[in-house]
Amino acid sequence: MKVPFVDAEGRYHCRKCNNYQPKDAFYDSSISHVIHMCRNCSRVDHAMRARARRQNDPFSRPLAYARRKAKEAGIPFRLDSKDAATLLQDVWSNRKGMSGIYASHEGLVLMYWDPEKDVTPFNCMPVNYAEARFHASKIKKTSDLTTNYSARIRKRVIKRLKISKRLTKISMQLVMDAEPVRTITAADAADDEEEEEDFDPEDDE
Ligand SMILES: [Zn+2]
Repeated sequence: MKVPFVDAEGRYHCRKCNNYQPKDAFYDSSISHVIHMCRNCSRVDHAMRARARRQNDPFSRPLAYARRKAKEAGIPFRLDSKDAATLLQDVWSNRKGMSGIYASHEGLVLMYWDPEKDVTPFNCMPVNYAEARFHASKIKKTSDLTTNYSARIRKRVIKRLKISKRLTKISMQLVMDAEPVRTITAADAADDEEEEEDFDPEDDE
């Protein structure tokens, strides 16, 4: 049976919760268009869709964060979701850039390293939100990296950025040759495994 969109009392029908409610329980767009969903149901629906998107693509949020921070800092952004996946999984093995500590996807975002270079796979690292905020507020030019981070932290990040460059070069070559030479993983490219440490920007050697 088809329910009328507007009932005798002028209330509107939400097809999600199946209730008739006054007009102000709806966003204007959902009355004039085809959604026919009350504000409450719209919000629930929106949150559910967002969650589904995150589950389908765990790299979209870290990537979106990196894009936003680059825009705020006026840095050209040249990173796609494939780069984000490679960076997080292969280059950094889900470790945070500065501390080298393992973290789950949920706690990690991507962030530029050097603010005077474009955001590419060779200038991007995974960090947690606290690290990202610190970086965005303190690192405005290349020389700020030296004044705010210890030599050990800088060495660790730069080493990974080099691995990223090497991996990208290898995969580009594989595409061009159209035949795999041998599989090279981030573990092969890195000469040793990194020790775990707490993040402390003041921690200088
Ligand atoms: Zn509803």
